[in-house]
Amino acid sequence: MGNTHRLYTTALVGFGPANLGLLLSAYRKNKLSEIAKNGIAIFEKSPRLGAGKLGYYQITANSLSSVFLECIDDPRFYELTSDFIGGDALTFLRDYPDTAPQLSLVADLLERLAEKIISRLAEKYQITLYREAEVTQIKRSGKSFSISFNHNGNIATAESEFVFTNCGGYQTAEQSLLNDIAPVAVTSDEFLSIDKDDASALLHRHKIQRVAIIGGSHSAISSVIRLSEIADNASVAITIYCRSLPRLYFETAAAAQDEGYAFDPVADVCPLSGRINRFAGLRYDSHQAALSIFRTGSVSPQSPAVNFIVSDNPFITASNSSNQELCILATGYRSASPFTGLSGKDTDGRVRDIAGNPVPGLYSFGLGAGLSPSEKAGGEPSFKGRLDGVWLYINDVGDVIIDAYTEDQHIPENIATGR
Ligand SMILES: Cc1cc2nc3c(=O)[nH]c(=O)nc-3n(C[C@H](O)[C@H](O)[C@H](O)COP(=O)(O)OP(=O)(O)OC[C@H]3O[C@@H](n4cnc5c(N)ncnc54)[C@H](O)[C@@H]3O)c2cc1C
Repeated sequence: MGNTHRLYTTALVGFGPANLGLLLSAYRKNKLSEIAKNGIAIFEKSPRLGAGKLGYYQITANSLSSVFLECIDDPRFYELTSDFIGGDALTFLRDYPDTAPQLSLVADLLERLAEKIISRLAEKYQITLYREAEVTQIKRSGKSFSISFNHNGNIATAESEFVFTNCGGYQTAEQSLLNDIAPVAVTSDEFLSIDKDDASALLHRHKIQRVAIIGGSHSAISSVIRLSEIADNASVAITIYCRSLPRLYFETAAAAQDEGYAFDPVADVCPLSGRINRFAGLRYDSHQAALSIFRTGSVSPQSPAVNFIVSDNPFITASNSSNQELCILATGYRSASPFTGLSGKDTDGRVRDIAGNPVPGLYSFGLGAGLSPSEKAGGEPSFKGRLDGVWLYINDVGDVIIDAYTEDQHIPENIATGR
């Protein structure tokens, strides 16, 4: 029989960038004394706080250093970060504010920031940190949620009134579909997490000459960049099977026109900022790579030829092409959060029950969940995806989630418990 811990006001399940952003948003919106009323419990599976998946990817960020620096330099967080020591990562980001940094550096910075913020907040609020604790189940239990977790080899349970669960996501497809495309299949998550030597060894071990990439996302183009670093056009050819061509981000319509980039003057323009493909568009390294592929058919003159095939069902189209030795699955992410009897979430960040009704008090919005943009967040009308990213968790997404939490605090008990 496991230990049962006391009732907390709030549980943060998974402490990667999303729940770090949530904590900062709660602070910014002056909600911490409510959220931490009877204590906050933080459950994080790994020893690292704050970094999440970003620490694994061996690619550059899709935001500039200056965007990540905002988390530290924002005057609203001054009390928390004034004596922050950011180490080499912070030094690099400050020295190169206008470059897209390696994600491993961003992860180092977020980890230091998370440690700093938790220790600073713990001076004022009750914060219980379960590090290297894996949550296995979250379920409704009367007025609160019951959270089962493994910690130090023990199985235990905690109760919490509110739960923010952000455990990242995973890519998946039926194995038989992948087998039809190529004998070797990896997810882009796996491919972008191995270093160049291991990626190169993978190509040589399986004598890979033709690569099929499924999906036209940022991960797909990052995979092309990685392949272009380790193979040339004499040895490898790449086909990207996608539903639509990747879109490119531009600061202004004039900048897009200067590059000869075609866009819809209404559907692709953010009404708030005038930016082109503000949410869907590729930025920085992946932008340059995609632009080069559109113009010349490869990332650089020596690198593998890249061909796009657009169709309604990229899996079927890819499986009809023969002779591909490697398939890289670069599709979207599903939530890895351990809900029970619940079915995902909607645009307000509240998780839904199996009947599709919002479950007050239970929220999920990070990788694999994400929110659709609100009018307040702006963005191009053609964007149909989910918002995901460190800056958003601390700003627009944080606002939406804290607003939902504030509303749920005032829901009569019989509605909140579904009775
Ligand atoms: C290839 C790629 C590149 C990206 N680049 C950028 C970028 O440049 N800039 C940007 O802002 N965003 C980027 N993103 C989006 C990015 O994924 C998110 O910003 C961020 O990683 C999502 O944070 P998260 O906390 O939701 O998930 P994760 O980063 O996956 O963190 C989840 C955390 O939960 C923990 N956890 C998992 N399961 C459990 C469990 N059962 N119990 C307890 N803890 C658990 C994990 O250990 C981890 O710490 C990128 C995404 C991808 C896929």
